[in-house]
Amino acid sequence: MRLSEYKYKNHRFLGCSEGGVYTAMALPQYRLLFDIGVGHTKFTDYPKLLLTHGHLDHSSGLAYYVSQRALRRLEAPSIYCPPEIADPLNRMFAIWAEIEGFEAAYNLVPVDYESLYQLQGNVYFRPIRSIHRVPSNGYTILEKNQKLKPEFQDLPGHEIAALKTQRNDLFYEHQNPIITFSGDTQIEFILENELVRRSKILFLECTYVDEKRPVERARKWGHIHLFEIAANADAFKDVERLFLIHFSPRYKQEIIVQQIKSALPPWLAEKTTPFLYSKDIRNINPPHRN
Ligand SMILES: [Zn+2]
Ligand SMILES: [Zn+2]
Repeated sequence: MRLSEYKYKNHRFLGCSEGGVYTAMALPQYRLLFDIGVGHTKFTDYPKLLLTHGHLDHSSGLAYYVSQRALRRLEAPSIYCPPEIADPLNRMFAIWAEIEGFEAAYNLVPVDYESLYQLQGNVYFRPIRSIHRVPSNGYTILEKNQKLKPEFQDLPGHEIAALKTQRNDLFYEHQNPIITFSGDTQIEFILENELVRRSKILFLECTYVDEKRPVERARKWGHIHLFEIAANADAFKDVERLFLIHFSPRYKQEIIVQQIKSALPPWLAEKTTPFLYSKDIRNINPPHRN
């Protein structure tokens, strides 16, 4: 199974995604994975796994991943997941330990939706509840900065320096979302989360793209249709690069590219990249490199 690689600015994404088949995405910069819907030695190096939900096309590589890391004597991986599936996952790992005759170490974290989890320096990730047929999360990687409150912004530097010595309420905490990964979800995940809409890079599931599988069907199965992205185009105005993932394998890759160009307004189609596996096709609309 071949992995695809895409770059945007200083970010690199290595993975694969097909609806109902597999989804797994590595971010070397943050040494983490979003989902592990397939066992692959390339994924063994990453010590953190942010699991969106338990459907097997997103989680079937779990046991292999944990076992491979133990075999290679790498540190126990941290696996973040929706709280409801922590218990069944622990049971599954126990059964695999019995089958393999070896107990591989792992650190399973049922996420707290109120928490930020530190990745490095001022970079954190936040789990955000999504809407699917089973308990599910999206994840946002963000920078946390101190920003001057608007009422002080017009003051000259020396006055701010003087004020700093007198009071400690000049700044507020600002969250600057860098990357969001949706997992499987209905479109409300974007419409109801400001942090997602402000993300510079958004990985969004888009399972269906044509009339043969209508919007109602996508919603019934907890997915997004390309036509819903078109109908809510305004929600994507702050996103710099929209990567669409999780296309149904029923579509030829040429059709996906065609549908994106015909269904989305040109300004949105221009910044949209379908995450595809075929080398010939996936460079039709390459991300801009600034
Ligand atoms: Zn899926
Ligand atoms: Zn799913």
